[in-house]
Amino acid sequence: MKSLMFVAPGRLRFDEVDAPVLVDGTDALVRPLAATTCDLDHHVIADRTPFSGFGPFPLGHECVGTVVETGPDCTDVAVGDVVGVAWHIACGTCAQCAQGHPARCLRHGDAQYGLPVNGAWGGCFDELIRVPYADYNLVRLPAGADPVHLASIGDNLALGWETVVPAVAGITDPKVAVFGGTGSIGLYCVDAAVQLAGARTVYYDDDSVRMAVAERLGAEVQDVHGRREKDFHLAVDASCDPERLRKALLSVVPEGRVNSVGIYFEDVPLPLLALYQRGVHFHNGKGHARPSMTPTLEAVAAGRLRPELVTSGIYAWEEIPDVLTSGRAGHKPVFVLE
Ligand SMILES: [Zn+2]
Ligand SMILES: [Zn+2]
Repeated sequence: MKSLMFVAPGRLRFDEVDAPVLVDGTDALVRPLAATTCDLDHHVIADRTPFSGFGPFPLGHECVGTVVETGPDCTDVAVGDVVGVAWHIACGTCAQCAQGHPARCLRHGDAQYGLPVNGAWGGCFDELIRVPYADYNLVRLPAGADPVHLASIGDNLALGWETVVPAVAGITDPKVAVFGGTGSIGLYCVDAAVQLAGARTVYYDDDSVRMAVAERLGAEVQDVHGRREKDFHLAVDASCDPERLRKALLSVVPEGRVNSVGIYFEDVPLPLLALYQRGVHFHNGKGHARPSMTPTLEAVAAGRLRPELVTSGIYAWEEIPDVLTSGRAGHKPVFVLE
């Protein structure tokens, strides 16, 4: 089969590799229907992460696909199911998984598709993927849903729900700020904030394309370099930019929440005295995806989320290397495997 390899910054190629096989009884094999980039992948390709020095490795960890084979111990998934694939490898039963933290799975740690960490799991731009603990890590898509715009359900799309909905639960008339910059995650957060949290939502950025999408999703849009309001119940930092992170931290009401989904590979100074005086609940960490995939898909099925507005382009599978290295990918390119 063909596997998309990250070779070096700005260089991707398809390699011919052995197709995966079932190893454990709880495994399933999935053939992607559509796959997309995590915002992180663009940073890897652009040489802005430590991973960028570790090529070649299979890239990609967001896809939806069809189950083509199941092990004898799979009970919830069956051949022919159209499913979303969680980006991480998680057992679903250890103490961390049981608490809803599969990205901290005690059996598999940092293991995931599409990055060279903790095992060789292939990438979601492979033509076939082995999914361990398939009953846990796969989620059936709603009947009739277009899989193309759900390609991100196993990571960034579910992260929109995870970042916003629990953080403002129980707040009357919530007010949410989203500081964009990474690509798609901030936009999925806007959709969840507007549609699911019923929040007045302000999107801060300086990219006119992403700002237009945020506006269509129902946010008020502001220049991130201009004045900002400072009474948000939740500020989301989806920027990977220390200056925007600082603005997010200083934009919430006393005892407000700040969720940062950006990855900072170097230390960033924080205004700790201001945070102390304000009382800020700050979370920075991986998205757990799997627990949020189900409510996200339910919201899509109910017509409440509109991931199709975030998709920046739809391309053929063969175009992956060129689209992702030529600067024409936009914030969320989806690739369809025939
Ligand atoms: Zn990711
Ligand atoms: Zn686990």
